[in-house]
Amino acid sequence: MIITIDGPAGSGKSTMARRLAKRLGFGFLNTGAMYRAVTLYMLRGGVKVSEKEKIHSLLPKITLEFSGESILLNGEDVTLAIRSQEVEKYVSAVSALREVRERLVELQRGIATEGDYVLEGRDTGTVVFPDAFCKFYLDASVEERARRRQKELEAKGEYHDLEYLKREIERRDELDSTREIAPLVKPPDAVVIDTTGLSPEEVEERLYHEVMKRRGLL
Ligand code: C5P
Repeated sequence: MIITIDGPAGSGKSTMARRLAKRLGFGFLNTGAMYRAVTLYMLRGGVKVSEKEKIHSLLPKITLEFSGESILLNGEDVTLAIRSQEVEKYVSAVSALREVRERLVELQRGIATEGDYVLEGRDTGTVVFPDAFCKFYLDASVEERARRRQKELEAKGEYHDLEYLKREIERRDELDSTREIAPLVKPPDAVVIDTTGLSPEEVEERLYHEVMKRRGLL
């Protein structure tokens, strides 16, 4: 059984997908981490986003694996490295490339069809699994999303101005929603939840309730 959670940056998708998967006993797949890992690989190799042929030729050299909460890029744990501001700056441009998306969508389908999964990202309910059992779309005001990001960075000892984070989030939203291939859109059959002002527990309850209702268990 496949459950998808899509939405813009900072809408709470990762937290919710992780919680819901744990509660249901499902696997959890953070597709954004995969796009971030590919971006990190390209940055480390000094490859520019405009060098499409080069990126295409490097894709077969990349292996991505998950080990619990960690993501391994060619065997190296890059869970923390993919959260850097540098990766954040370039990830939307890298993930707009057709070859990158085709490769990662193939990997995502391969992983998730092994069992019951909660996937989260931008296109998991529209492109990766359009026939998913249950689709959610989470959103929140840009202020709230920037505040969440600020807290997350503060926990790592990094301080960033709220206005700067708002601009960065808006820039990424714009790129992700206007790209030609698999843009961020609300799947027409998704349950939409605005998480502004809601606690993680409240959002989790709504998601869990919806899934159980559809499974005929409520
Ligand atoms: O979810 P997260 O913010 O970690 O995603 C990082 C970036 O990866 C997004 O801004 C988007 O450009 C890209 N992404 C994507 N498709 C997905 C998941 C993430 O294009 N399914």
